[in-house]
This record gives sequence, structure tokens and C-alpha cells, in this order.
Amino acid sequence: MQSSLFGGNADVPGDPGKLASAPPSAPLRHIPLLERFEDLVLGEAEKRAALEAVCGEALTCRRCPLSRSRRNVVFGDGNPLSPLVLVGEGPGETEDERGLPFVGPAGRLLERALHANSIRREQIYICNTVKCRAADFDNGRWNNRAPTPEETDHCQSWLEQQLGIIRPLVIVCIGSPAANAVIKKGFKITQERGRWFDTSPYAPWVIAAFHPAYVLRMQGAQQEAAMNLLIQDIGAARKRVIELRKAARAAVAPNVPNEPNEPDSTDPDGPTREQD
Ligand code: SF4
Repeated sequence: MQSSLFGGNADVPGDPGKLASAPPSAPLRHIPLLERFEDLVLGEAEKRAALEAVCGEALTCRRCPLSRSRRNVVFGDGNPLSPLVLVGEGPGETEDERGLPFVGPAGRLLERALHANSIRREQIYICNTVKCRAADFDNGRWNNRAPTPEETDHCQSWLEQQLGIIRPLVIVCIGSPAANAVIKKGFKITQERGRWFDTSPYAPWVIAAFHPAYVLRMQGAQQEAAMNLLIQDIGAARKRVIELRKAARAAVAPNVPNEPNEPDSTDPDGPTREQD
């Protein structure tokens, strides 16, 4: 059994490319909306199958105009059994090309922030609020733009189904648009990042962090400070998962000691942290 990132056994690494490359002809299965998952607890195989079915459906989605310019639907990547899910805004050029989220320069910075917290990206699940690249054609090339509210609304049900199947304990919203979709409308990332919210329908606990693309646009000391906050917020999420799992185990078996691979400390700045 894989040693656990969060002190349990559920975060066995998945196949990063499997979901994104599921063929459009994958068998379809109707997945109910999030509220209808309230009383469902999916097993590992059922969870993977349900997610692949939704992914197969999403790969052929033409609900909004972004379907006309996309190269790939970027559904999600990583371990669907992870208690920790990262949700970003939408794919950029590299993500559109490869069909995977956060694989361009911002993705590399995100991986550094994960690595600083001793997390490998394949151990967690990463997706976006909008599954197709939003871009305008200008001066002979496609330029990224923010998805419109209508495009985001059209895509919301894919995210709902995804998170309804995964049922993470903790979500990190990467950037303001994701926080608007997952936490609340009008979210102010500069004022509210790093705070915990327990009011989202998608997970018991949600926190928002700066988007790595925002960090990349900064320079010098400002960039370093923003990067440290991104690392700190991801670290807080990891720590929250560990705390929740410890509490759950204590509730069902109060006299059972922690597993041998349980981290001694929940401090994300503890001895395993490696700073790039
Ligand atoms: S952005 Fe979402 S709603 Fe629009 S076509 Fe892509 S998958 Fe469908």
C-alpha cells in the first residue's frame, strides 16, 4: 500500500493522463447533480468509473462557443481519491494543446508550491472551473482571455459533477475566478485568500490562494512574497486534511494509535518541506 501523503491510505496515485485521454466513445452514465450525491459514498472503483463516464461526456461538450476554438477539453488530472482538490480558472495555450490542467509556466510554479509542501501533483486532483480555453483571435494569433460569466455558468455542471463524485475534504481555489465559482460571488482574492470557508456546497472546507500566473507577473520581492503566500495556503490545506482525518479516526476508534506513516507534526513547515 502506498505511504499516505495525508496519513491515510486513500491517496494512491492515479494515472495522470487516463481521464483526460478517455475516448469520446466512453460509455455514458448519467451523473446526478451534487445535491443528489449527499447520501452516496462511492467506492474506489465506482468513483473512478463515474468520473471517467462524466469525462467522456464532457470531452464532446458543445454547450458554449469555446467548443469552436478549443483543441482539447481539459477535464481534470490526478488522483480522484485524493481528499485535496485544486480548482483553477481555465486552460491556457499549453493546457489546450495537451489536454491537461496546469502544465504551462503557471503549472510549473504551482508544482513548486506543491513540492515545497511535500506534495506531488499526481497525489492530488487538479481541475478548472471552465474546461475549454477562452481565447480571442487577434493579430494572427489566439490570445488567452478570461472566460465570460456565461461560459463559466455553462461549464459549472461539469465541475459540480466532478466534485460531487470526488467529494474532497478540502478544496484550494487557485485564483479569484475559481473562488467565485466555488466559495462565493464577489470573492476578493487579495483580501480573502488564506481564510477558511465552510459554506461551499463542494467540500466541507475551502480556501483560496493566489493563482501562479499572478505570481509570475510580479517581480522581485513582491513575487517572492506572493509565492510564499501560495506555498503557505497550500500548506494550510494539507494541514487541514491531516487534522480532519485524525479527528475522523479518533471519532470511530478513539484508542487506536496513528498509523506508522502518520506525520508526527501537521506543520507544513516541518522537516519534510523542501524549498525550491
Ligand atoms: S467550456 Fe465547458 S460548457 Fe463550454 S464547451 Fe467547453 S466543456 Fe462545454
